[in-house]
Amino acid sequence: MKLAVIGAGVIGVTTAYELSCDGHEVTVFERTSTAAEGASFANMGLLAPAWMAAKASAQWLQDRPAGLASWWRGLRRSSPAVPSRTDPGNALLALADSGARRLDELCASLQLSVDSHQGMMIVWRETRDSKRAEDLHTRIRAYGAECHLMPAEQARALESALNAETPLQGALVMTDAWSVNCRQFTLLLRAAAQRRGCRFEFGRAVSSIQAGTKHRVLCDGEVPFPEHFDGVVLCAGSGSDGLLASLGVRLPLADWEGHSLSAAVREPLDAPVAVVHDLQHQVSIARMSQRIRVSGPAVRAGRTAGGNTPFKALYAVLDDWFPGAIRRGNGAGVQEWTARITSTTDGLPVIGQTARPGIWVNTGHGMHGWVTACSSARLLADMVAGRDSAFDPAPYSAPRFAGHTE
Ligand SMILES: Cc1cc2nc3c(=O)[nH]c(=O)nc-3n(C[C@H](O)[C@H](O)[C@H](O)COP(=O)(O)OP(=O)(O)OC[C@H]3O[C@@H](n4cnc5c(N)ncnc54)[C@H](O)[C@@H]3O)c2cc1C
Repeated sequence: MKLAVIGAGVIGVTTAYELSCDGHEVTVFERTSTAAEGASFANMGLLAPAWMAAKASAQWLQDRPAGLASWWRGLRRSSPAVPSRTDPGNALLALADSGARRLDELCASLQLSVDSHQGMMIVWRETRDSKRAEDLHTRIRAYGAECHLMPAEQARALESALNAETPLQGALVMTDAWSVNCRQFTLLLRAAAQRRGCRFEFGRAVSSIQAGTKHRVLCDGEVPFPEHFDGVVLCAGSGSDGLLASLGVRLPLADWEGHSLSAAVREPLDAPVAVVHDLQHQVSIARMSQRIRVSGPAVRAGRTAGGNTPFKALYAVLDDWFPGAIRRGNGAGVQEWTARITSTTDGLPVIGQTARPGIWVNTGHGMHGWVTACSSARLLADMVAGRDSAFDPAPYSAPRFAGHTE
């Protein structure tokens, strides 16, 4: 089939690659000048399926509506403020586990050399957080991952640069967790997709899609692209909602903002070995080759307080745990980065065909789009081919949201 993919973030590029592998003729439309310029540019790179599933499940428990009546009212409106009735933990774990495995396979078979570091340590400073850490430990293990609860001295021996002056009550250590450079992988896979014949139309902002027996893509102020397509796959991250609306497809997607800062390591002996996550502040600090990346929790788009508050918080946590780890000051080139991500109400992405035949989506990945990229792309390609997939696609389907078409 002749297919258009909208968006060249990690989701669009992996999707285009898998579709090309299945023999489709693929054209990717991207409004910026290259791949991975949106949310896939400077994310944390974390691949920690069980931890991510445990966090999503805990968040779901916290947000769960008090009564069935309010859930039902909300569902009928299909409003973005409505939390789901089902715990997303297992479905996220299935996608994330499979995503990490597919990433490994692709790196091995295509000989892609991508920066990666193994291991993750979750640390907490105050005794009042010990109970929370124990709960997290139980949840992570329930999802089948190895996770060790460690006293402070043992944790300090593993991450020897942890600041001795910052109180440390204990740590959770996972060996089956990785930080892998998402942008680097996306750029390398884009080249692999091009070698398979996939075409990239950079600098083309898609303004709308005309669905019909054949579909048209309108770019840069409604100029029709000269070719017609048998199918269109929307992988436009936070740009997806507007394009879906132009087709009369309504999904409960909401935009969030994430922040990271990246800087060159000043002195390796003062830097983390792998990923250190501060439980209280929900801030992660990752070693990425010769650089350090720090990132915090996402906030609803437009709700960030004025000034550079999110970055101040990131510097503060970095200074607490690894003072002097990065170069600062004039000419140090610290990169402060903000990106929009889009998320659904139940914390799971939307993968599959919409109510408009031939219009597919792979979006709404929230803060998990890197770990789920390679599996969601494979799943989407299997669905396009009408093949059974490795796992149940129902939890990610568009029709799970009532009234997803006007
Ligand atoms: C600070 C931060 C840290 C994160 N850490 C992690 C992590 O550790 N692990 C993890 O798994 N995930 C993480 N994430 C989430 C992950 O980065 C995203 O889920 C993922 O990058 C989403 O990929 P995407 O391709 O859907 O979106 P994007 O990378 O944003 O790509 C969408 C692309 O579509 C293009 N586009 C949009 N509209 C149009 C249009 N109309 N026409 C043409 N092109 C269009 C955009 O220009 C963009 O290039 C993090 C995110 C942030 C912000």
